[in-house]
Amino acid sequence: MNNDCARVWASCLDVIKQEISSQSFQTWFSPIVPKKIQDNVLTVQIPNQMFYEWIEGNYLDVLRKAIKSSVNNKCKLEYVVEKRQQISDGKRVLRKPLSPPSFQKTSASQASSKKQPLITFRELPFTNRYNFENFVEGSCNKIVKSAAEAIAQNPGKTSFNPLMIYGGVGLGKTHIAQAIGNHMMVDFDGNKKVKYVPAELFASQYVHAVRENEIHAFSDKFMDADLLIVDDIQFLAGKEKTQEVFFHIFNYLHQNGKQLVMTSDTAPHNISGLQERLLSRFKWGLTTQLETPDVDTRFSIIEKKAASVNLSIEHDVMKYIASFGHLNIRELEGVLTSIVAHTMINKVDVTFALVKQILSDIAQEVDSENISIEKVLNTVASHFRVDAKDIKGSIRTKEVVLARKMIMHIAKTHTDNTLKSIGLFFGKKHHSGVVYAVQNLEELLSSDPRIKKSYFSVLGKLGVFSGRQLCV
Ligand code: ADP
Ligand code: MG
Repeated sequence: MNNDCARVWASCLDVIKQEISSQSFQTWFSPIVPKKIQDNVLTVQIPNQMFYEWIEGNYLDVLRKAIKSSVNNKCKLEYVVEKRQQISDGKRVLRKPLSPPSFQKTSASQASSKKQPLITFRELPFTNRYNFENFVEGSCNKIVKSAAEAIAQNPGKTSFNPLMIYGGVGLGKTHIAQAIGNHMMVDFDGNKKVKYVPAELFASQYVHAVRENEIHAFSDKFMDADLLIVDDIQFLAGKEKTQEVFFHIFNYLHQNGKQLVMTSDTAPHNISGLQERLLSRFKWGLTTQLETPDVDTRFSIIEKKAASVNLSIEHDVMKYIASFGHLNIRELEGVLTSIVAHTMINKVDVTFALVKQILSDIAQEVDSENISIEKVLNTVASHFRVDAKDIKGSIRTKEVVLARKMIMHIAKTHTDNTLKSIGLFFGKKHHSGVVYAVQNLEELLSSDPRIKKSYFSVLGKLGVFSGRQLCV
């Protein structure tokens, strides 16, 4: 490094320091090493590609200002990545918008010489438990399954990149997403790196990484994936910084032809608090839904699962279990587990009487009469990601008003509250407002499929099931 270069960069840093928070400065500028200044080009070394994208995406104006005041406004900035991986071609000026640089992947020897990242995230093992073979196909999941299989054979090369799978709890999102990874690992003889991370863990690890000043180690963990699966992406809602870092990881992987698979409990456009730029990236690939299985699929699932645990159940008994349309697949598995437990402990056969007893025990667990209006309020508030206090207050934003109506409707139809007690809960002297809200929600349920989905998703979270759920 020549002295000029060090002096110029130190002067740039002085300017930058004034403009951004000390934490951002520490994170993004401290690790930069000035390399040389020659022919009006200042060359700096950065730790990785992600750095480059982040800096140019977030601090371009600050950098311009710094270089202009420290050198002149004709000076260009060139980035090189640690281990001599050059990003810029040396002629590129600071520019906006960011265009994908030609970046070479870290070679194995370079990667192994890297400092071991201090943070770790749990990489769940891909066992035989979640594979395509034991994923029962039906009309509810046909599209998802065939897209998943296409991806597993050709990761990053199909138009399903990213693949976004959404659907209610217990319908097989994690199963099918992991089946892709499972298949890839076997098919490519372990030559493909598969990374799986629940979004909640991604978010908490990110917070940890910021605290420990290890953001680079954090992002590096994901950068070398051939397939990155982020499960339950709805947990990123409202977490701005985490979304930003995910956005950059997403871009990096996508630009390098790597496969991304995400799952969510709701359609992405219905997740409030998810940045528009992420939503638009998701649209690049395929967004597809896992629906509630129909009776035939439920039957096949029960049949297959029973066979896998050597449980012998009569055909009619399986049909009977399958007729319980409100049970999701995880709950169906729970029924089978209970049956296995009963038959083993009590040494009895699987009879109708036994199955009826087990199913009625489960039904009692979700007895809607026991649900309090408070619980409905909290469930709806967390579903819409709004403050329960706002719903009980007088705020009239679209979302809060809808949430309020939904609570009133559920309280009226699924709890033993009277119209009067519901009105009082919302601080209303008269219950006519509740009557109006309930009627209006009825109309919305029949005219707006998104509201209907949302409604039943809340019922599912409350453990309340109604006959109407079957026709969603
Ligand atoms: P989600 O992630 O949508 O909440 P999971 O993937 O965890 O649901 O699935 C719940 C359970 O149901 C898992 O044990 C999974 O193996 C099983 N399951 C879901 N869908 C199917 C299917 N189509 N065939 C067989 N098993 C399934
Ligand atoms: Mg899951």
